[in-house]
Amino acid sequence: MTENATPTLTTDQLVSRVAAASAVWAATPYAERARVIRAIADALDAAGAELIAIAQEETALAEGRLQGELKRTTFQLRIFADEIERGACFDVRIDRPDAEWPMGAPRPDLRRMLIPIGPVLNFAASNFPFAFSVAGGDTAAALAAGNAVLVKAHSGHPRLSDATARVVQEAAVAAGAPEGLLEVVHGTENGVEALKHPLIKAASFTGSIPAGRALFDIANARPEPIPFYGELGSVNPAFVAPAAAAARPVEIAEGYLASITGSQGQLCTKPGVLFVPEGSPVIDALLDAAVPGPAPLLNDRIASGFVATLESVAEHGAVSVLREGAASRTAEPEATLLQTTADAVLADPEGLITEVFGPVGLVVTYADPAELAPIARSLEGQLTATIVADEVEGDLELARTLVPALADRAGRVLWNQWPTGVSVTYAQQHGGPYPATTASGTTAVGTASITRFLRPVAFQNFPDALLPEALRDGNPLGLPQSIDG
Ligand code: NAP
Repeated sequence: MTENATPTLTTDQLVSRVAAASAVWAATPYAERARVIRAIADALDAAGAELIAIAQEETALAEGRLQGELKRTTFQLRIFADEIERGACFDVRIDRPDAEWPMGAPRPDLRRMLIPIGPVLNFAASNFPFAFSVAGGDTAAALAAGNAVLVKAHSGHPRLSDATARVVQEAAVAAGAPEGLLEVVHGTENGVEALKHPLIKAASFTGSIPAGRALFDIANARPEPIPFYGELGSVNPAFVAPAAAAARPVEIAEGYLASITGSQGQLCTKPGVLFVPEGSPVIDALLDAAVPGPAPLLNDRIASGFVATLESVAEHGAVSVLREGAASRTAEPEATLLQTTADAVLADPEGLITEVFGPVGLVVTYADPAELAPIARSLEGQLTATIVADEVEGDLELARTLVPALADRAGRVLWNQWPTGVSVTYAQQHGGPYPATTASGTTAVGTASITRFLRPVAFQNFPDALLPEALRDGNPLGLPQSIDG
């Protein structure tokens, strides 16, 4: 039995506690919120050795990878703290009264901004025990937006979830935040109960398509439906153009293999399908390049899912094995490359363009670059799509046909870089049309993710003293204000 970070409370009690904290936190000045969030980041850094040791025991991820992930996590908290002090995310708009407003009727005094949406439920991911878990991006965004958070811990790292929560709770309270700013609930059924709870006002999720879809449907079937920001599956196709394939096969092959084997291929942005010209030297280079040895996957559920999905794609009539090792189809796999053709993909996209969560890639050969645009247009929604090409005619012509199709199908389109490694920045977009996400207008990474947990409200004809400070004349908080457009 796992000891909860806040032991002995029922799911209902945990939600109520989070809701009470959320009301206090929403009314806490932005500068205070930022100070608390920075204190949380400092405390997580200070507890790094202890937390990383637990993460290693529970996830089989390498120490260096976990160190980098914790650094990313605390950076993320700090950049979000900076963001709420800058204030552009609150989208303050002020329209002063205008008797001559050309619409045909006078314009009233209208003042609009984004306010906290209310208590957030965050379903943590298995594959990023820090950056997409208890203190990860969704939690950081929800806290920055002014909401308390209940995290549904992932069953793959329960002790780390509780240990992380304790560090966050102690730091937050010591910095003056209300008790209950962050709580953790364990268990699949408790997660569902929390999602149905009327006090929860938004939810986020990172995981598989079936689980994400089931939870999205529950969120929508509530008497009061709530926004559900699910980041689900993605295959992240990469298209290698002919001139690039001829000019730099080894660089492309090594870069691709590094991208699909990093973190044992358990990344939502892993480029699972690689399109290359038929007979291309990239294929020989893929066979020759060195790959890491066998290593365990995150947990038993992911390992059994991996072997089953890999077997089902490998047994497809149009698929052959390009490269595999003795351990490829085991719970501690090594890199596997399967091979098929563009014709086969067009004939059965669902059977072949499918996420295999582990160190596997499907190499798709094409006879004519003209085959690629129809495939790109037929793709399901993706987190990313990649073009590997040289800036020479031919490759550029192909790119011109691919870019509009890929921008239509994916949240992030890359040129000559691999999609794994999602930087936390101001312009980052980590999302995409369904099934990559359940909310294609949003991002799960980067500062733009904060607005998922905000809600607009306009005040009409209000006296200054009753307005939120951000909307008052004279701009007492100094936030960016858009005045009269
Ligand atoms: P998962 O099975 O989707 O689980 C994610 C979360 O949802 C967990 O908290 C889980 O609870 C909960 N859950 C699962 N099924 C549920 C249901 N029917 N009703 C209510 N809650 C449910 O994801 P996973 O364990 O991380 O990995 C499984 C597969 O997901 C992987 O093999 C991979 O294909 C995919 N995945 C994708 C991404 C991505 O970013 N796209 C990331 C990770 C995994 P419990 O843990 O308590 O069961």
